[in-house]
Amino acid sequence: DSGNHRITERVAASERSAIRVMFDMAEAHDGELVRLEVGEPDFDTPEHVTEAAFEAARSGETHYTSNAGMPELREAIAAGREGRTAEDVVVTTGGMEALHLAMLTVAESGSEVVIPAPSWPNYAVQARLADATPIEVGLPEEEGFALDPETMIDAMTEETSVVVLTSPSNPTGRVFEPEAVREVAAAAAEHDAYVIADEVYRGLVYEGADRAMASYVDDPERVLTVDSCSKRYAMTGWRIGWLSGPTPVIDEVTKIHEATTACASSVAQHAALAAIEGPQEPVERMYEAFRERREYVVERIGSIPNVSAAPPEGAFYAFLDVGALPGDTLSIAKRLLREHGVVTAPGNGFGEAGAGYLRVSFANDLPRLERGFDGIEAMVREEV
Ligand code: PLP
Repeated sequence: DSGNHRITERVAASERSAIRVMFDMAEAHDGELVRLEVGEPDFDTPEHVTEAAFEAARSGETHYTSNAGMPELREAIAAGREGRTAEDVVVTTGGMEALHLAMLTVAESGSEVVIPAPSWPNYAVQARLADATPIEVGLPEEEGFALDPETMIDAMTEETSVVVLTSPSNPTGRVFEPEAVREVAAAAAEHDAYVIADEVYRGLVYEGADRAMASYVDDPERVLTVDSCSKRYAMTGWRIGWLSGPTPVIDEVTKIHEATTACASSVAQHAALAAIEGPQEPVERMYEAFRERREYVVERIGSIPNVSAAPPEGAFYAFLDVGALPGDTLSIAKRLLREHGVVTAPGNGFGEAGAGYLRVSFANDLPRLERGFDGIEAMVREEV
C-alpha cells in the first residue's frame, strides 16, 4: 500500500510474486532450512574470472566503457553467435536489463506480449513497464509444458508485438523442440512480431540440442537473443548479460541503454571476458555436478508416491507436480517449510499454469538435496 503517494499505474500494477512470499517466510524462520527455492548456482565464480576483475581494477580499468560494451567483449560474444558480429551485440547489466530494454524497444505501447507459461514472472512486469499487456499462454500440462505451436499461434493477434521464448526454461526445465520454435517464430513474423529468445540457461542442457533458438528459425532478423554470464559461469552477482540481434535494433537498444545504465560495470566486463575466453574446465566441472544432481533428483522423485516430474532437460530446476496433495500450491509450499524445513518455489508464482507444482532447484549439493527430498517425501507420506 503506497498510501497518499502517487504511484504510476504501470508500477502499481506490477505484483510481487509468490516466490517472494516464500523468501520472506524463510528469512523470518528460526531453525535450519534447506533452501531449494534458489535460482542461482551454489558455486563460486571460477578463480581466473575473479582474478581478471582484480587485475582490471588494479590497472585502472575503472572508467565508463563505451555504451554498448568493451569492443573485445562484444567480439568474444559475437564469436559464439552464428552470423553475428560485434555490432550486433550490446552488453547489459545482466540478462535482466537486456530483456527490459528489448521489451521497451520492440513492444509497442498498448500491444500484446505473448508469454508461454509457466514462465519467469519478470517478463510480465517488463511488458507492463513498456505499457504493453502480457498475455500468459498456458502450455499443455499433459506434455510437460512443451512448446506447443498450435497453442502459441492461437494466442497471437494483430496486437502481438513480442513473443517470449525461454529455452531451457525456468521453471519447467524444458528444452524447446527446434521445429516448434521454428513454427512459433514463423507465426510471430507473420504478425510482424519479434521473438525475444531468453537463453540464459544455455550450456546447461542434459537432453536435447544445446543450440541458439535463432539458429532454428527462417528469419533470424526477427529474433532478439538474451544471454548472460550469470548461470553458466556462476556469475549472478557480477551482473553481465547481453542482447544480440540485427544491428539497427541493437543500435536503438544501445541508445536507451545510454540513458538507463550508460554501460555495464567495467570491472565485471573484464571478468566476463575472462569467463568467455579463458579456460572452460571450471564450467565443465559445474555442468558435471549439475548432471549428477539431476540424476539424483530424477531418481528421488521417481520413488515418491503421488508426485511426479518430467525429467528436466535443461537449467537446474525440477518442476514437481504435487497436485495430488491437499491444499493449494502456496499452502503446500508453506507447510513444507514450516513442518519439514524445506523451502521451494510455489509453481503459481510462475503464472496460473504452474498451480499444483513446486519448483525445486538442484543448484544445491547432494547432501542438501538428500535432506530436501527426505522432507518432501516425509510430507507426501503423511498426506496421502
Ligand atoms: N531469464 C531467466 C529465465 C532467468 O531465470 C533469469 C534469472 O533468474 C534471468 C533471465 C536473468 O538473469 P541475469 O539478469 O542474472 O542474467
